[in-house]
Order: sequence, then C-alpha cells, then structure tokens
Amino acid sequence: MAGTAVRGRLTWQTATVDSVTDETPSVRTISLSVPDWAGHRAGQHLDIRLTAEDGYRAERSYSIASAPGEPVAITVERLDDGEVSPYLTEELRAGDEIELRGPIGGYFVWDGGASDSAPLLLLAGGSGVVPQRAILRHRSRVGSSVPVRLLYSARSWAEAIYRSELGAEPDGVQVIYTLTRERPPGWTGYARRVDQAMITEVAWPAAQAPAAYVCGPTSFVEAVAADLVALGYPPQRVKTERFGATGAP
Ligand SMILES: Cc1cc2nc3c(=O)[nH]c(=O)nc-3n(C[C@H](O)[C@H](O)[C@H](O)COP(=O)(O)OP(=O)(O)OC[C@H]3O[C@@H](n4cnc5c(N)ncnc54)[C@H](O)[C@@H]3O)c2cc1C
Repeated sequence: MAGTAVRGRLTWQTATVDSVTDETPSVRTISLSVPDWAGHRAGQHLDIRLTAEDGYRAERSYSIASAPGEPVAITVERLDDGEVSPYLTEELRAGDEIELRGPIGGYFVWDGGASDSAPLLLLAGGSGVVPQRAILRHRSRVGSSVPVRLLYSARSWAEAIYRSELGAEPDGVQVIYTLTRERPPGWTGYARRVDQAMITEVAWPAAQAPAAYVCGPTSFVEAVAADLVALGYPPQRVKTERFGATGAP
C-alpha cells in the first residue's frame, strides 16, 4: 500500500546488545538481539548506524560473525583514530540499543549446499577472518565434509582473532597462520606477509576446482586475488570482500 513502510533488510531497526566479548585487546564480538531478522547466510554483512546528539550520523558495514541460525553477532576491530569502531569496541555495553539493517550481500556467501562441494580456500587478513569464521561455523552446523584451508594473516599471535575456536580445527579444516610483525618464541609458522610463494604452498591446486574467499584490507585482497588468478584460479572462483584501507595485517 502506498505510504506504508515495508520492513525488510534495508530498513533500519533497533537491536539490543546481548553481550560483548573481548577477542583480543583491540577486537570485540558483539552479540545482538534483532527483533525483525529474516535470517542470514554465511558471508553476509550488516550496516550499523550511529547518530550523535546533534544529529550527525555515521554508517559502517560489518560482516556477520555468526552462522545462519545462530544469534546475530559482529566482531569489530578498534581503529584508534576511527569514528565508529572505538565506540563499538569500548563504549557499547550489554543492554544498549543500536541501529542496524541487514542482512546485506549475496555474493560473498557460502551456503554449503550441493553446489558448494568444492574444496574451500579461505584467505583472511586481520579482521577479514570474520566472515570466514561464519563460513566455518556454518560448515560444521550443516555437517559438510568439504575440505577447507584457511590462511590467516595477523600482525601477531596476540592480535589473531578467534584463536581458541580456530585452533580446534574440526575434521577436514586446516588453519595456517602467518604472523607479519611479532612472533612468539619458538614460532615455526610463516612469518611474513602473504605472497605468491606462500599461496602456491597453501592453495589447493587449481585442477581441483576449489572455491576461494578472500577478505581483509583492500590492498591484501587485491594482492592475494591476483596471486590466485596467476596460479590458475578462474577469476569467478575467487570471491573478494574489501574492508577498506584499514591497515595491513
Ligand atoms: C562489507 C564490509 C564488511 C566489513 N566487516 C568488518 C568486520 O567484520 N570487522 C571490522 O572490524 N571491520 C569491518 N569492516 C570495516 C568497517 O566498515 C569500518 O571501515 C571500520 O570499522 C573502521 O571504521 P571507523 O569509523 O572506526 O574508522 P574511519 O573513521 O572510517 O577511519 C578508517 C581509517 O581511515 C582513516 N581515515 C578516515 N578518514 C580519512 C581521511 N579523510 N583521509 C585519510 N584517512 C582517513 C582513519 O585514520 C582510519 O585509520 C567492513 C567493511 C566492509 C565494507
């Protein structure tokens, strides 16, 4: 009917913070109760809108960290000079209300159905591991046996997000870290930024027709996607999600 607001994924609504959980000193997971949530797919994101007392508004996108069927959660990395992330990671408390809309995006998704039977190669830089975590959780929940390799680039072990969860490595999942700036004593894993040689060692051979999901800062995503294509991955098998120029992992 004309003039009637149709509620949907692009309608702003008020959610309530259920809990906040520190993942690292600068990263926090925020679980939300969203009254009018149509359900989401692994790999989608949502938008958050903050409104200041003078009416100034700021909107940012955040990947959904939880699997379909789980309560909505986002995981936010604090950028000290950022406008929105310091509020989300430092000020927001359980019981607070926040405006959001979503779920958004149908491209960077993995549904785990019959058409998603190819080996998965997940490549994450920094907080780019958030949608990858949703994909891994979804894989477990639907009982998929698709083999997965996750190559995760973090600045240091202390800054690696979801360490205990990823360390559990369910059957068929391999998590490979590279720590670009600081390593714990005795570290034997990769210790440099992701490069062509590392991708060649870690990636499933292109002949196995794998599906690749690359997420993180724009420069990381562009370099990694180009390396995968050079390795013989067809561009349409390399899905990318760019978080913006939010620092190199
Ligand atoms: C689809 C999508 C999903 C995302 N998912 C996540 C997620 O799961 N987790 C997460 O932490 N982030 C995610 N992001 C990034 C997120 O949307 C924000 O960009 C991030 O939180 C920073 O927002 P901010 O307001 O704190 O920083 P901003 O105020 O936007 O600043 C970001 C950086 O840009 C610099 N900057 C700002 N303005 C200027 C300027 N005029 N000139 C030069 N430099 C400037 C700042 O110094 C800062 O370092 C996602 C982004 C997209 C697009």
